[in-house]
Amino acid sequence: MAEEIKVLVIGSGPAGYTAAIYAARAGLKPILYTGGEPGGQLTTTTEVENFPGYPEGIDGPRMMMDLQAQAERFGTEVRFGMITSVDFSSYPLKAVADEKHEILAEAVIISTGASAKYLGIESEQRLLNKGVSACAVCDGYFYKGQEVAIVGGGDSAAEEASYLANICPKVYMLVRRDELRASQIMQKRVMGKENIEILWNTEVEEVLGTEEVEGIRVVNNQTQETREIPVKGFFVAIGHKPNTDIFKDYLEMDETGYILVQPGSSKTKIPGVFAVGDATDKVYRQAVTAAGMGCMGALDAEKFLAAKEVEMAN
Ligand code: NDP
Repeated sequence: MAEEIKVLVIGSGPAGYTAAIYAARAGLKPILYTGGEPGGQLTTTTEVENFPGYPEGIDGPRMMMDLQAQAERFGTEVRFGMITSVDFSSYPLKAVADEKHEILAEAVIISTGASAKYLGIESEQRLLNKGVSACAVCDGYFYKGQEVAIVGGGDSAAEEASYLANICPKVYMLVRRDELRASQIMQKRVMGKENIEILWNTEVEEVLGTEEVEGIRVVNNQTQETREIPVKGFFVAIGHKPNTDIFKDYLEMDETGYILVQPGSSKTKIPGVFAVGDATDKVYRQAVTAAGMGCMGALDAEKFLAAKEVEMAN
């Protein structure tokens, strides 16, 4: 027998927990499935300095534990498991947890987040959070006044290189082709910064350092010439992948898999299904914006359920 519930929250980043806090306070008894990375991307960060309300900063994993406790305090049931499939073709909405447990939900809030793509070289993974980061806006400040490198040639890399150039004396931008993928306006911004040096046709062979990043070894893929560059921070900005595969048969998405929502809301094209946070946002991708969207998702779900109740009563 399927378990019948009111609100299912899928994902446990700032978006999911904020949705759960709001839904729980509204008496909707949400059940939240954490997914494979409980706490989401922030658990891979050390210090979060830009979330409002923490003047001294807060440890990423600590913040997620606090968010979980806050959601539970108001009656959210947090389950450590995965939603492995969904069926939104009928109502109530169907979801299957851990490939076996069937759930029928009156509303679903998708907050499955996104995962940063990495180059996949051993030294990059070994030095993750020890100088290697996939988020310049989150971690760039720790390298203020130091030389850094960023890999990627898209809008994210261009934007993050510009951000880094404001706080670091020198930024090497490593681009694997002889042109940027970034939009013209972002290209201009990068070219306009004297302290950004673009290394074309350049790929990273190794991130150097044992305890922390001390430099990178790069190779020019045209000349095969290698070179070591001393840097303290190494940023990867080669794209993100939203964790939305299980929804692709039911929801509208862009070509990368970001779920499309009605502008200014969290509504997807399926009534009762709401999408929030990095699963739908490829532009801002911050904990605080994800949390804000989580709030929107819960309020939209609450409104939807209230309208449904009125409909049933008539
Ligand atoms: P993109 O997919 O647009 O760009 C990825 C970049 O990384 C490309 O230059 C790509 O190179 C490079 N890359 C991919 N894999 C590797 C690899 N293994 N080694 C080296 N380089 C690699 O991702 P973005 O995150 O930049 O942007 C995603 C979307 O979000 C885009 O639509 C973008 O426009 C949008 N966005 C908009 C912003 C804004 O409007 N302010 C800000 C940020 C993002 P190659 O070109 O050779 O494939």
